[in-house]
Amino acid sequence: MTKTCTKCKLPKGTTLFRKVKGYRGNRCSICKPCEKEYRASRREDKKIYDKARCDSMRDEVNKRNREYYKQNREDRVAYAAKYLAENRDEVNQRARLRYHEDLEKQGEKRAKNKELNSKQRKAWRERNKAHIQTYVKAYQRKYKARRRRIRRESGKGNAEAALRRAAVLNATPAWADIKAIEAIYKESKRITRTTGIQYHVDHIIPLVSDVVCGLHVAENLQIVTAAHNLKKSNKFNDYK
Ligand SMILES: [Zn+2]
Repeated sequence: MTKTCTKCKLPKGTTLFRKVKGYRGNRCSICKPCEKEYRASRREDKKIYDKARCDSMRDEVNKRNREYYKQNREDRVAYAAKYLAENRDEVNQRARLRYHEDLEKQGEKRAKNKELNSKQRKAWRERNKAHIQTYVKAYQRKYKARRRRIRRESGKGNAEAALRRAAVLNATPAWADIKAIEAIYKESKRITRTTGIQYHVDHIIPLVSDVVCGLHVAENLQIVTAAHNLKKSNKFNDYK
């Protein structure tokens, strides 16, 4: 049994045509090699299409996760606190294990990429030499005063600031609306400026706590007076 391909116009055995239910003779009208060729020609377009689709879905998924966190924040926190209180040893043990596993994994990855990364970094530095120099000079001018101030302040303060930055980074999920977060910080500065009272942006559920850790997302931020913020410690139970 043969069938003529509508694309290459060659008669070929029917097994060289893909099965398609309900189509003429239950076989595709173009032969498998022709189909393959067609798919290859469309590959770049498909990549672009798939990426666009993935991007559009990502927005939706992030939005859903954001909504969920907003709707269920108190419940989730209460549940997590209860669970942690009842299973503290087990949770701690699990966290310890995970931490060490992650360390190992990161080490392997770093070792694998070490040579490649350093080569790439070096090439990039070569390519952008002039740009880097001007940038560094501008930066040094701009932050000279700031660096002096930081040096004046104690080493303890620096360490605390570094820990704080790491905690914020750690608590920012992929679905966080960065623009919304920035808007809240901006608004806090604006209120401080117009009222002359120092306002801070505060995490409703603290990022670092013994009981449960909040997220660095707009839904977990509030603008409070500095006085209120400094009174509040990083303990979830202290917040009411
Ligand atoms: Zn063909």
